[in-house]
Amino acid sequence: MKKDILLGKTLSELQEICRENGFPKFTATQIAGWIYKQRVDDIEKMHNISKKARHFFSENYVVGFKKPVDVQVSADGTKKYLFPVDGGFYIEAVMIPDGKRKTICLSTQVGCKMGCHFCVTGKMGFEKNLTAGDIINQVCSIDESEDLTNLVFMGMGEPLDNTDNLLKSLEILTAHYAFMYSPRRITVSTIGVVPDMMRFLEESESHLAVSLHSPFDEERAKLMPVQNKYAVSEIIEKLKSVDFGKQRRLSFEYIIFKGINDSPAHIKGLTRLLAGLRCRINVIRFHKYDGFPHESPDEIQVIRFVDQLNAKGITTTLRASRGEDIMAACGLLSTEKSDN
Ligand code: SF4
Repeated sequence: MKKDILLGKTLSELQEICRENGFPKFTATQIAGWIYKQRVDDIEKMHNISKKARHFFSENYVVGFKKPVDVQVSADGTKKYLFPVDGGFYIEAVMIPDGKRKTICLSTQVGCKMGCHFCVTGKMGFEKNLTAGDIINQVCSIDESEDLTNLVFMGMGEPLDNTDNLLKSLEILTAHYAFMYSPRRITVSTIGVVPDMMRFLEESESHLAVSLHSPFDEERAKLMPVQNKYAVSEIIEKLKSVDFGKQRRLSFEYIIFKGINDSPAHIKGLTRLLAGLRCRINVIRFHKYDGFPHESPDEIQVIRFVDQLNAKGITTTLRASRGEDIMAACGLLSTEKSDN
């Protein structure tokens, strides 16, 4: 019989297992502590739980940490980790160092079904959703695990196309019984799957980043097919109805393509679209790869675009390109490796 995996189970799920099998409730808290705080992979080493409980859990469960099978290191210190997941698939997670800050960019799916035209992951097609355990494992099993300061869900896949597992992993990452990350250290990025975006905003406190890439419906639809289902106007309208409070951040990602979305009309369109929303824009240079005809404008144009948005009163930053030499930069994650 294949043993079930404990990694990725919430405290209430562990309590339920304990209840069903006659173990006290506190055993669940102890097990969660061993896994998420101590990162212990061997149930027999959880010495403060009863011998009977250790025996039961060893017979029926494994903790389930998986080590990366490959690590690539960029000239700028960015590291790309390759992790195996069930079914013979592989996913990537990227660690980006920046002074004292260490950010991990997490994947939520093997491939992606959203088909954004500029995205390498999108070209892979969709294979499967990651479990909460697969997501948490990316945080636990990298060399920098203990030093991570920020977590961003911007790797392979659309997080809000795997919302149950996303929310489960967010619970574990922020819970007192597990990692205790502040939700203010976590950002979830979406292309704007409206119902799941609203659910995420309701059920979590983490920051939200929405991939915009154009303020204009037709143009955005050419870049991102999701626009045909959830128009940008609907996304903004919904966001305007949400109280983000003082601490929670709403940002928009804007990949800039030369001659496509970098004109004064786009500055005007963005200003009009985002009027009345407390938000910021992150402009991202497009990282060119073979097979996609477009490229980023030159540096001066990009900076001018950013400055003009700031002058219009929208806080806008230019995201530094990291890990481009190891295909770890934004939109470049893809795994050719598969055991199938
Ligand atoms: Fe999927 Fe995000 Fe790539 Fe779009 S940009 S295809 S949502 S991974």
